[in-house]
Amino acid sequence: MEFNASIKYLKGVGEKRAAMLAKLGIFTLWDLLTFYPRIYEDWSKISSISDAPMNETVCIKAIVGTRCREHKIRKGMTLYKTEVTDGETLLDITFFNNKYAAEKLEQGKEYLFLGKITGKGYYKSMVSPEFEEYDGSKKMRPIYPQTAGLNSRAIEKLVKTAFSVCDSFSDPLPEDIRNNYCLMGIKQALHNIHFPESEDLLSEARRRLIFEELFLLELGLMRLKSKNRRSTAAEMPNDCTGEFMSLLPFELTKAQKRAISQAAEDMKKNVPMNRLLQGDVGSGKTAVSAALIYNCAKNGFQSALMAPTEVLAAQHYNTLAKMFENTDINIGLLTGSTPTAEKKKTKAALKSGEISLVIGTHALIQKDVEFKNLGLAVTDEQHRFGVNQRGSLSSKGINPHTLVMSATPIPRTLALIIYGDLDLSILDEMPKGRQKTETYLVSTEIRERAYGYVKKHLCEGRQGYIVCSLVAENEASELTAATELYKDLADGFFKGFSVGLLHGKMKPAEKKAVMDSFSSGETQLLVSTTVIEVGIDVPNAVIMVIENAERFGLSQLHQLRGRIGRGTEKSTCIMISDARNDVTSQRLKILASTTDGFKIADEDLKLRGPGDFFGSRQHGLPELKIADMMTDGEAIRETHAAASELLKKNPALTGEEYVLLRNAVNRLFSGGISMN
Ligand code: ADP
Ligand code: MG
Repeated sequence: MEFNASIKYLKGVGEKRAAMLAKLGIFTLWDLLTFYPRIYEDWSKISSISDAPMNETVCIKAIVGTRCREHKIRKGMTLYKTEVTDGETLLDITFFNNKYAAEKLEQGKEYLFLGKITGKGYYKSMVSPEFEEYDGSKKMRPIYPQTAGLNSRAIEKLVKTAFSVCDSFSDPLPEDIRNNYCLMGIKQALHNIHFPESEDLLSEARRRLIFEELFLLELGLMRLKSKNRRSTAAEMPNDCTGEFMSLLPFELTKAQKRAISQAAEDMKKNVPMNRLLQGDVGSGKTAVSAALIYNCAKNGFQSALMAPTEVLAAQHYNTLAKMFENTDINIGLLTGSTPTAEKKKTKAALKSGEISLVIGTHALIQKDVEFKNLGLAVTDEQHRFGVNQRGSLSSKGINPHTLVMSATPIPRTLALIIYGDLDLSILDEMPKGRQKTETYLVSTEIRERAYGYVKKHLCEGRQGYIVCSLVAENEASELTAATELYKDLADGFFKGFSVGLLHGKMKPAEKKAVMDSFSSGETQLLVSTTVIEVGIDVPNAVIMVIENAERFGLSQLHQLRGRIGRGTEKSTCIMISDARNDVTSQRLKILASTTDGFKIADEDLKLRGPGDFFGSRQHGLPELKIADMMTDGEAIRETHAAASELLKKNPALTGEEYVLLRNAVNRLFSGGISMN
């Protein structure tokens, strides 16, 4: 049978099994052979009965000494018992109600038994062990992730059958690469990952399969990137970022200046810039992008700035409109809720070149948005967009320069994978005069006092947030939770103050009105759901209360807290939670103890596991079956080098020996990216 044959044709798979396998993502023989065991059961370390520790899973080798005897202990309960020996010690093997297992044991034959030994004094017994006839080999047996109705042993059997019927194992890794990196062939690797012949071979097999997976991933991503590296039509020989600084009410930090000049250097070249700007919340990424947008306009090209939410797009629009007030830079705003007539006008002005900067949401990547000469595409909070969505914005120009911005800190090796080889600028310094936000974790008993503290700040002319969580993940309850809290507070504790309400289900125009009123300082206190999480910037807001803090993720809390502490005033964040569960309070304590985004992301990963943090949902990357982005850093570096070397020699992977490799890359990226 061929690798890609349907699993239905495998012996032992009927309709029902096929459906169960489908639940595990297994449709073809190949899927089954690359369904890797989670762990292994060690049948290779054999202990003698007398040395084996009690009550731990052990493997012993013993000869069956007696025929199996049957004891009816009570109604419906029969015990089957036989005696075995390893030559020194006797051991009782017992099964309950399992005649079938008991009768399989033949007197005089030697078996391996895996199970726990119990007993007192000289009497030892093993209850319901797994056993296998001893054939002289030492074994590790695979343990697979299971689904209801299909246990690990059943999967093991199917994998064995698959090996016996698969006649061709075509290796996607060409021979020269295998030789260069000392990697075993695909057949040996697959065989040893399922049925390791030794620990060494198992680790070699793992290394080979991890290499392959990361190598394919790197090749696909590099191809994607090389598409970006065709020469750009937007060369910007004049560095005009120096004169931009006079438009700002503040002095840029050293880190901001460094990032701006790195990018301006890139933009002088005829290959497009492809840069990631990473900086913790509040580090001033917007000003960096503004400098580059200014530079772009002064060199005669248009820019686009894309944000993940309407609220954030509107805020950027306001900020930049003010910044560029006294320049000849015309700005347009384009979001889903922009009125149709307005949209039409903006699009026409973009096409004619009348507008030199457009700010917007996903609306920017609609088909009918056209530019006269897009020279710079900026994506804010880029982790909210998929790989392909980022690409679509740049496809609106002729290989324009791109800048993506993110506050989500990730380790260097991961950045390599996730962003291909984007160049990296880091804002590792906060604007002058910032004070560390104080964070407290309190129980609900203290809520009144917390509110009182908020009130005190409002009386001093400051503003604040009260953030409430979703009770359940549905629209109706989000609305009620926020609305009720708002009503309670506006008519109760904060009567006489100007209180606003913001939640995700409001109409865009309503949201805008609320945000405008809060930005202008008219609204003193904003009751909100997590819609304020990304990007919102109102420096006069210095106090935040987060209700039911235990319901938020660590990084999310960090983002939320990032809404305050944006001015020179001291800010305070009060998290309210009654959760006394260990993990939860540990999480919240981390947040209270540091404001360093890198540290927090790290802890978050440790507590949560990489899971969907780096999963396909956030980055549009294919899911990995065996490699682990967190722990396989060394392999990531190795495959990165291997992939770039190969593509340098053979960018399109032409030639007979690369056909399988090319197909494998395409298969991995079958969602979107193609090598052809
Ligand atoms: P983020 O990196 O989270 O996107 P913003 O760009 O929104 O941060 O900037 C946060 C706040 O800091 C804004 O109010 C901005 O005007 C201000 N800011 C940015 N750079 C500086 C600076 N160099 N000095 C003082 N304030 C600054
Ligand atoms: Mg921002």
